[in-house]
Amino acid sequence: MSIRIGILGYGNLGRGVECAVKQNPDMELAAVFTRRNPEDVKILTESASVCSISEVESWKDKIDVLILCGGSATDLPEQTPVYAKLFNVVDSFDTHARIPEHFANVDASAKEGGKVGIISVGWDPGMFSLTRMYANAILPQGNDYTFWGKGVSQGHSDAIRRVEGVKDAKQYTVPVEAALKAVRNGENPELTTRQKHTRECYVVLEECADAKKVEEEIKNMPNYFADYDTTVHFISEEELKKNHSGIPHGGFVLRSGKTGWNEEHNHLIEYSLKLDSNPEFTASVIVAYARAAYRLASEGAKGCKTVFDIAPAYLSAKSGEELRAHML
Ligand code: NDP
Repeated sequence: MSIRIGILGYGNLGRGVECAVKQNPDMELAAVFTRRNPEDVKILTESASVCSISEVESWKDKIDVLILCGGSATDLPEQTPVYAKLFNVVDSFDTHARIPEHFANVDASAKEGGKVGIISVGWDPGMFSLTRMYANAILPQGNDYTFWGKGVSQGHSDAIRRVEGVKDAKQYTVPVEAALKAVRNGENPELTTRQKHTRECYVVLEECADAKKVEEEIKNMPNYFADYDTTVHFISEEELKKNHSGIPHGGFVLRSGKTGWNEEHNHLIEYSLKLDSNPEFTASVIVAYARAAYRLASEGAKGCKTVFDIAPAYLSAKSGEELRAHML
């Protein structure tokens, strides 16, 4: 029998999960739940239902894993603990500083309901976190580097849209080539915020807006842009739509380390991602972890887990026998 998946929240990530489920023959999408009027939410899977979030409890025995696709700022801190009592759940909570608190809340709920909850799954947190952990365990003497991009930062794009005179905007985070090169050369550089990333903004102005003033305001915005070298390009609405409507992202995790009695040998571990669609890739990671949640629950596991707690073979649709024969 296939693993029956539910999706709660149907935005970019929700749609990405739907596409990822389609690529995994051991899974099927049972239902999508939304806070909006279900009639307004059009999904792609003909065999699945679209339901109001108020109906989710009646699906308790018809869904094996519920994937929570709401936003990290306000949806997931509330939703994941609530639904972890009723379902095995996976979320992509990405507010790094609040992960310990979120873990404790989900752990208490999942243990109360006898379910498994896997939180903060995706690429960062997620695959990047795993890479950092493996690299640190293997090379305890060394330095860590994470570069993001080139990719769209939703938060920074939103911040620009709030500037007076801006009609629409997209912001790309771009790693500084020279910094990446220095790390790859084993120079172990100490890098400031400004030396690691630049910020590129594509802005559509309101009619009669003062371009100079808008540019100054963006470049001097504390926390978002003031600590970076920022470039602002003013473009037309058509150009923004044509050239900047995607959600690409990616980045690099590197650890340079030393081994040998006198630490005379250098090593470099590098993991890189170049993603055409951030939500579709994130969703693909989540769906692999949904398989792990299902298997762990079948074995009687309970409580909250992160990517650190899941043995790699739990992610694969292949059996242990197949993995040993073809992938070792
Ligand atoms: P969206 O803004 O597209 O969707 C969030 C929620 O908004 C949806 O679940 C949906 O819930 C609601 N929504 C309300 N109105 C609409 C509408 N008109 N169209 C679409 N959705 C609507 O966010 P994303 O899906 O892009 O991202 C979700 C989260 O994923 C992010 O907050 C981020 O934290 C996380 N993420 C994590 C990553 C990682 O590596 N760990 C990487 C990328 C993202 P409803 O259906 O109930 O209305």
